[in-house]
Amino acid sequence: MSISDRPELRRQGLGVSAGIAFGRAYLIGRDTLKAPRHHIEADDVDTEIARLYKAIAASDKQLAKIKEKLASENESDYHIITAHQMMLHDEHLVGAAVGYIREDLINAEWGLRKAVDDITRVFDQIEDEYLRERKTDVEFVFERALRNLLGRDTGPLSPPPDAIVVAYDLSPADTAQLHKAAVSGLVTDAGGKTSHTAIIARAHEIPAVVGLENITEHIETDDLVLIDGAAGIVIVNPAAATVAEFREEQRRQVAAGAVLHSMRDLPARTRDDVDLQLYCNIDGPDELEDALDYGAMGVGLFRTEYLFMGHAQLPDEEKHYQTAVKCLERLGGLPATIRTFDLGADKLASFLEDAKLEEANPALGLRSIRLCLSELGRDLFKSQLRGLLRASAHGPMKIMFPMISGVSELRAAKAVVDEVKAELTAEGIAFDENVKLGIMIEMPSAALTADLLAQEADFFSIGTNDLIQYTMAVDRVNEYVSYLYEPLHPSLLRLIGGVAKAAKDAGIPVTVCGEMAGEPMIAPVLIGLGIRELSMSAVSVPEVKAMLRSMNVADCEALIGRVKKLATAAEVRAMVSDYVFSLAGQRKGRA
Ligand code: PEP
Ligand code: MG
Repeated sequence: MSISDRPELRRQGLGVSAGIAFGRAYLIGRDTLKAPRHHIEADDVDTEIARLYKAIAASDKQLAKIKEKLASENESDYHIITAHQMMLHDEHLVGAAVGYIREDLINAEWGLRKAVDDITRVFDQIEDEYLRERKTDVEFVFERALRNLLGRDTGPLSPPPDAIVVAYDLSPADTAQLHKAAVSGLVTDAGGKTSHTAIIARAHEIPAVVGLENITEHIETDDLVLIDGAAGIVIVNPAAATVAEFREEQRRQVAAGAVLHSMRDLPARTRDDVDLQLYCNIDGPDELEDALDYGAMGVGLFRTEYLFMGHAQLPDEEKHYQTAVKCLERLGGLPATIRTFDLGADKLASFLEDAKLEEANPALGLRSIRLCLSELGRDLFKSQLRGLLRASAHGPMKIMFPMISGVSELRAAKAVVDEVKAELTAEGIAFDENVKLGIMIEMPSAALTADLLAQEADFFSIGTNDLIQYTMAVDRVNEYVSYLYEPLHPSLLRLIGGVAKAAKDAGIPVTVCGEMAGEPMIAPVLIGLGIRELSMSAVSVPEVKAMLRSMNVADCEALIGRVKKLATAAEVRAMVSDYVFSLAGQRKGRA
């Protein structure tokens, strides 16, 4: 018996966030909407105006609902939505649109577009940067009203609870907000394992399958969809027997999760008594309760760019300070490594979109620390550093710079910290004078000069997501070349081994914080290469810990000795799998 009349369709994609989800699809269109334009008869004027008012009223109601949900969460968002509601009723918008419909005899969508264009032209001439940026708010309001006029869903951020969201792609900002809507799964045409969308899905434990190329052409809103985020399987209109089979698997996974959870308080100690540090990667302090529950020993990477993304208002010094303090308080004495904002490429903020940089290769462009040191980002960087330094007086905190290409960039970033420290001292504001300043190693130029960088950085964190991207010249979010995105490529292992050695020689700590740190099968490789600290999505902590507790550092080092002689990633993977299976055999033998 089939749950639906339509035949079952099974597709294989990249499983990027484990878990089984079953629910109704909610399809988000690929294109941004265009306002249809046509002339109308004089008799239709009143109907068009009525349509416009109806869409405005519907938009107002939707915003009021969103606001209800946000009320206790985030005050600034709450106020922004109130401002959007006011815009909806502004005479300059509605009155002008009505005027166009009546006088030019055009449809409501066109009239509204013309009224919006008039307003945004005025915004373009405003000198004040903050006010000029409000143009995007007008567009946001327009988009919602237009969707209501066209009877389309009102955007990617309002799927019904428990929906499986299906999209060509999702921006990291969309994904970050989707968890609040309590969606049960994500399915996309585009994307790779370390796309930020995938990372966020893992952080919020939303099962997700990406890289399905054209799944949006095969799924319609309200279709029943089943996804297995570990295996990367998506089944549209599953038969009853298929659903039963996956429900069984779901029960098995929940039971296995409970066993791992019971290891929370056990040390991450290998069988030959080497203690390792397992930290978590977070996008905000709200994730910490769960992270600690999974047994994370602190924060190895706080991606602060999420304070910028999807927020019309940019974070100021106070926001950075409050957020970092909240983080330290929730950690109750455990350490936090806070990365200064890593914006650019696929991680956009309103000020960057407004700057319209027109870069042909944004992944190689004005992003990350380069942006912070440029005129465009410098003031924002300084206010973040002021906020973080002030917070450093409240608990064990380190500051980390992303995408450092070499020693001169590190010196430039440290010079800004010195400038900010001098300002705070002059103002008599407390901060930790000895706050550690470290760097992400995520491009070959940094890995290959790690010995030089180690003389001037207090610690390293290897960002393998980008290190793989830049070493293999493979876009981390491009599904066409994802087969080349290989953490176990011999080039990567040489770079990681080299960085670990440089750090050890200089006596500074080194962590791996890219997604490969959270893959239990890869843990023996990283440990064999000399890594002793790993930072990952909190959900991966128990599994990685279980792996570490079953192995021996000496064996991992011997494994690396053999791996070094191999020429391809596939050969490395096969040898590492053999080792991991031998551990499973030993575990059984001991049981
Ligand atoms: C990385 O590149 O490995 C990393 C951890 O940074 P992000 O994923 O935020 O680019
Ligand atoms: Mg990175």
